[in-house]
Amino acid sequence: MTQPTSASPPLASALLDALHFSATKHSDQRRKDKEASPYINHPIRVAQLLATEGGVTDLVTLQAAILHDTVEDTDTTPEEIERRFGPEVRRVVEEVTDDKSLPKAERKQRQVEHAPHLSPQAKQLKIADKTANVQNITTSPPDGWSLERKREYLDWADRVVAGCRGCNPALEAVYDQVMAQGRQALAGVAH
Ligand code: NDP
Ligand code: ZN
Repeated sequence: MTQPTSASPPLASALLDALHFSATKHSDQRRKDKEASPYINHPIRVAQLLATEGGVTDLVTLQAAILHDTVEDTDTTPEEIERRFGPEVRRVVEEVTDDKSLPKAERKQRQVEHAPHLSPQAKQLKIADKTANVQNITTSPPDGWSLERKREYLDWADRVVAGCRGCNPALEAVYDQVMAQGRQALAGVAH
């Protein structure tokens, strides 16, 4: 029997390793939507947006996307990421990791201020992350969020993404489209 040809087995292995690691770390977590979707759906979506909409083939960026919330939201340490996936993936994951010791409002302000200083890899990851979250706010929002809170989130996402532009026009166009759909959906709601 002929074996199926593979363009790049190491790439597939590296992505699957990251996926397995991330799925294990996030296994007991859920998103904030009413259905409490499995958390891993989100990092998968972020990596998929980068690859399919942004045309990103850089392995470090895609692995970092799959792992982007592990240090912030699980017991994963930056050292652990470096041991398993190397220093570059660690660097990108750390770039997009909030300091959870700070109050939430300050963390959000820091994201806006730091965005222009991120590496191109981290900027693209941020845009994909905000695209996924804005889409979620529009179609499967966190349970109990008021219209005002959703709008505030969209406004904040726009401020972060403003500092990330210039690296990937195709990805930015998808973000703009998703944001426009989100604004339209929220504009049609009375409260
Ligand atoms: P959170 O940061 O608590 O929640 C948003 C984050 O949750 C997203 O960035 C995303 O992060 C994650 N997430 C999980 N599930 C979903 C989902 N279904 N849809 C979208 N995102 C999801 O909330 P805020 O951004 O509102 O931050 C808190 C701030 O809001 C504070 O500064 C506070 O002052 C303010 N606030 C405002 C209120 C209002 O009514 N206006 C009320 C209370 C607080 P990730 O990608 O990391 O998973
Ligand atoms: Zn995220």
